[in-house]
Amino acid sequence: MFGLYLHIPFCEKKCSYCDFYSIESTEHIDRFVDTLLAELRLRSAAGQQPFTSVFFGGGTPSLLRPHDMHRITSLLRELFVFTDDCEWTMECNPGTVTLERLQGYRAAGINRLSFGVQSFQASELAFLDRIHNADEAVTAMLLARQAGFDNVNMDLMFAVPGQTLESLSDNLQRMVALQPDHISAYSLIYEHGTPLYADLLKGRVKPLPEEIDAEMYHLVISTLRAHGYEQYEVSNFSKAGRRCRHNLTYWHGEPYLAFGPSAHGFIGTTRYWNYRSLTAWTQHVLKGALPEANHEVLTESDLLTEHVFLHLRADGLRPLETQDRFGIDVRVALQPDLGYWIDAGFLTDDGDLLSLTAEGYRVCDEISSKAAARLAG
Ligand code: SF4
Repeated sequence: MFGLYLHIPFCEKKCSYCDFYSIESTEHIDRFVDTLLAELRLRSAAGQQPFTSVFFGGGTPSLLRPHDMHRITSLLRELFVFTDDCEWTMECNPGTVTLERLQGYRAAGINRLSFGVQSFQASELAFLDRIHNADEAVTAMLLARQAGFDNVNMDLMFAVPGQTLESLSDNLQRMVALQPDHISAYSLIYEHGTPLYADLLKGRVKPLPEEIDAEMYHLVISTLRAHGYEQYEVSNFSKAGRRCRHNLTYWHGEPYLAFGPSAHGFIGTTRYWNYRSLTAWTQHVLKGALPEANHEVLTESDLLTEHVFLHLRADGLRPLETQDRFGIDVRVALQPDLGYWIDAGFLTDDGDLLSLTAEGYRVCDEISSKAAARLAG
């Protein structure tokens, strides 16, 4: 697999919890698209093998007009090669879409949408500073189907202060009723540097107790499984054949190119990241220089640790693959913990694949961190 990520750094309004790079302005979009096209040309030599996924993230990519998207996808096709079944995803804020826009994105080659729904409760959406309401989320899904999208993700947030098991259950029922093909469900994180984190420090918000967070996660897993969603990563659930290929590229340690301010790429053993500033990124690209703020070269030990950590959290670890790639027998290297995790029902070993059970996903952080630490040590 080979992925391509493009970061669109504009939002109508910043959400209180968000630490992704974006600015609350749309006045620079035309210049941004011109600069993004220039960055694509700068890096075109790096992408000679066919790409299997493209992901427009942000920020709010749906602030781009279909015409902008068409310019970007046209140049991508001119410069790079894509597999026939390439997944082209675009993140959309439900408060920004119309049928005409969605049809335009579809015509530009986008074949998968990801809606940041988060909740159907007015109080929770207000707490998170989302710009959309529940009706707009429902409408966005109907319009997406009308525009011909047969692969749609919805994001759901839980452990939001003020949320109860009842309101989360209502969110889940309303979401599955819309029949998205994929659901990403995340517990609210208090990221450093966000307004939410500042409110936490000042005692203005109080996180839900850990045991409620755990109960909510359990409710998410059991409800989505009961509605035919397969859990294939700690936070990701899909209908058959609808796993997100782009995310799997990250979790399987496969290469991906990245474009746009703050975007992170990974090629060979090198991870690079662009300037987290629209101004600095633009200045570098317009001078004909790669807008890389920095990069790091991963050692063999780093790569092994990431390989085990990420595969365990996602769709499982294949000991034979790890042996071939790193010369390590993980069944030996992870003892005695591995035996305990299997006996406790957290992991299964079918002879080919070590994978987390539903119970295992609930203690995934502990298992993946301990496995990574044991291999690093
Ligand atoms: S719309 Fe998305 S990217 Fe923009 S601030 Fe909210 S969560 Fe962050």
